[in-house]
Amino acid sequence: MTRVAIVTGGTRGIGEAISLALQAQGFLVVANYAGHVEKAREFSARTGIAAYRWDVGDHEACIHNCNDIAATFGPIDVVVNNAGITRDGVLDKMSFDDWNEVIRVDLGGCFNMAKATFGGMKSRGWGRIVNIGSVNGQMGQYGQVNYAAAKSGIHGFTKALAQEGAKFGVTVNAIAPGYIDTDMVAAVPQSVMDKILTRIPVGRLGQSAEIARGVAFLCSEDAAFITGSTMSINGGQHMY
Ligand code: NDP
Repeated sequence: MTRVAIVTGGTRGIGEAISLALQAQGFLVVANYAGHVEKAREFSARTGIAAYRWDVGDHEACIHNCNDIAATFGPIDVVVNNAGITRDGVLDKMSFDDWNEVIRVDLGGCFNMAKATFGGMKSRGWGRIVNIGSVNGQMGQYGQVNYAAAKSGIHGFTKALAQEGAKFGVTVNAIAPGYIDTDMVAAVPQSVMDKILTRIPVGRLGQSAEIARGVAFLCSEDAAFITGSTMSINGGQHMY
């Protein structure tokens, strides 16, 4: 039986690597994305992975699209909540919209996707949810009260939902990446990045594939006894 996996934000960056790793592991992968249509088309043509466009912060859109995907491909057994955004700024300069949008997408997206899929996983007695948090949700980061709060919230969400899924064969885990070489990190000014690099004992940025391998493991049969955990993949930046 081929299991269906949805990867939010799965067409580029870390999400693209996760989509490919799950596909290589035998899952039928469906990727979600927000707005970069050309990138999504190129990704689908290259990988054969269907890409669906919707905003994970939109509750109804998550329910509708997950139902649609299940009707087309089969029941959804794996969800990787990877979609995330930043709207950085110190508190004095951060607008309410900047706060709200990051909470809505990064944390709200996890709730919305779980609402759409968790019940089905429980009723079938098998499921995997992996939420992508962040080292900055564990440590905090200057200029990121919105992002740190959302990502920290993901770690609490993971531990709470894991308790609800455990007796139904549904595991819920998180990965807290450190700094990974993607478009999101390319947006960080070089002077800030130079300082960040001095604080990573391994001495380099991580690669998307290094996060994807962790996700693929947590989605495997071998990881059935792991639930409610956070796997830190950060080059030793924060030992938590
Ligand atoms: P990118 O900015 O490179 O990619 C983000 C992905 O999320 C894109 O596919 C984007 O779609 C999608 N996306 C954004 N907003 C929405 C939305 N509202 N609805 C649906 N999809 C959306 O991010 P990264 O690959 O760097 O990061 C992936 C995850 O890893 C994020 O949750 C991030 O917070 C987390 N992370 C990243 C780190 C890093 O160093 N890069 C470190 C720690 C955590 P589209 O292509 O259409 O824009």
